[in-house]
Amino acid sequence: MIDKKFIAELSKIVGKEAVLTSKEDLNAYSYDGTATWVHMPDVVVLPTTAEQVSRILKLADDNQIPVTPRGAGTNVSGGSIPIKGGIVLCTTRMNKILDINKANLTATVEPGVVLHDLNLALAKQSLFYPPDPQSFLGCTIGGTVAENAGGPYCVKYGVTKQYILGLEVVLANGYIMKLGGVTVKNRTGYELMMLFTGSEGTLGVITKITLKLIPMPLANKTMMAVFDDIAVGGQAVSNILASGVVPAKIEFVDNFILRRIEEMTPMGLPVEAKALMLLQADGSPAAVEAEAQQIVDVLKKSGAKEVRVAKDADEAMKYWKMRSAGFAATYGAAHTVLSEDVAVPRDRLADFIHKLEEISARTGFFICYLGHAGDGNLHPSIFTDIRNKEEFTRAQQAMEEIFEAALSVGGVLSGEHGIGLEKQRFLKKAMDPVALSLMRKIKGILDPNHILNPGKVWEEEKV
Ligand SMILES: Cc1cc2nc3c(=O)[nH]c(=O)nc-3n(C[C@H](O)[C@H](O)[C@H](O)COP(=O)(O)OP(=O)(O)OC[C@H]3O[C@@H](n4cnc5c(N)ncnc54)[C@H](O)[C@@H]3O)c2cc1C
Repeated sequence: MIDKKFIAELSKIVGKEAVLTSKEDLNAYSYDGTATWVHMPDVVVLPTTAEQVSRILKLADDNQIPVTPRGAGTNVSGGSIPIKGGIVLCTTRMNKILDINKANLTATVEPGVVLHDLNLALAKQSLFYPPDPQSFLGCTIGGTVAENAGGPYCVKYGVTKQYILGLEVVLANGYIMKLGGVTVKNRTGYELMMLFTGSEGTLGVITKITLKLIPMPLANKTMMAVFDDIAVGGQAVSNILASGVVPAKIEFVDNFILRRIEEMTPMGLPVEAKALMLLQADGSPAAVEAEAQQIVDVLKKSGAKEVRVAKDADEAMKYWKMRSAGFAATYGAAHTVLSEDVAVPRDRLADFIHKLEEISARTGFFICYLGHAGDGNLHPSIFTDIRNKEEFTRAQQAMEEIFEAALSVGGVLSGEHGIGLEKQRFLKKAMDPVALSLMRKIKGILDPNHILNPGKVWEEEKV
């Protein structure tokens, strides 16, 4: 497989210091945001140009060596675990913002640009790129495209795929392919860009991205609602949407997470609440005032025990910081945390929450959840310990029931985290068999030697 000669070839392409082989270095690239998967690569390469990526892939393809593309490694589906060993191709040194064009409302970036860095650069020009996964401080734009990531703003503004105008992708055989461009409209042939968006590193390595931007909204208002029944909160989400207003964000944390956050960072949160909903209206100042009032009215009518409107930016920031801490609060709560990201139709959120309560009662596992309630996208989490085989297996079975429950109300396996290693055994249940077979054929055409992120998405290695 990978011998000294192969490492020397890689060093010729990217330079010696961009090829990592020490045990400590390899260890750092052996895991991601999941609590259950770990596997060492044989080598890590850190290219800086598409040409280097092309040469690495050509070399790997000729030698049938697995390549796992990696951004920041924050994904929570096992996507960047080099489960078959081989090469981790990490894009973090391809981190230039190449262009911000205010007149065309576009930005062109390399894949390793950290989302927060782009947001800071855009804010200086009053520009806005809405998709906001809550890992924004670390995750890379390439990783968000490969996962088609979403975040709180997606209720109103949509997910990553709605903002991609152009992509440069290096195929498994090393060909550098350009798709789309810098226009908002483009009806030239099949929408191939969408194939690579959400492809989890299995179809090509994304080396350049042109994103659509919008002007920064002039005003916003944050609201917090307290519920003493989680399902009532779920129903309030559909009531708000049905009332004719689409808030920029509708997020949800349950009592457990709320208390964990307050323990870790005291900020005076209403820790007795069964569920806390955070909402934001944005737009022109007049529209924001009117929408916020409408949201508050619907929340009250829907059974919220208390509704607070943040009096200023500091109070609003405090609430959103609390939401951002939600994942860390969950993951720090047990040795192993199984946390998924099913999405259900927003008008079935309350039904789904009732089903979660039933599953928890029947299996004996406490289920906590936070999530993007406005998208019907929850992160039900089960605490367990992978070292206790019997309990871990039961926890996995309980999670399986959660997937079944989501599918039974018209939902999907993954709203944003992807299939990766975590959910591949459910793919057959959740997809039309013909569509699945078509996906396999596409993989076979683009990556016939199956070198790109092998072991992911599909149950079997060869497709
Ligand atoms: C605290 C926390 C909060 C999170 N919140 C959210 C959230 O709100 N919404 C959400 O959607 N996700 C969320 N995530 C998950 C994760 O941050 C996203 O999936 C993110 O898009 C991953 O980006 P990354 O740079 O870390 O990619 P990685 O984890 O490195 O990779 C993710 C996948 O993309 C592939 N990949 C990476 N770069 C490329 C490339 N250039 N070309 C081709 N394939 C590539 C990898 O092979 C892998 O399959 C969260 C994670 C954490 C830890």
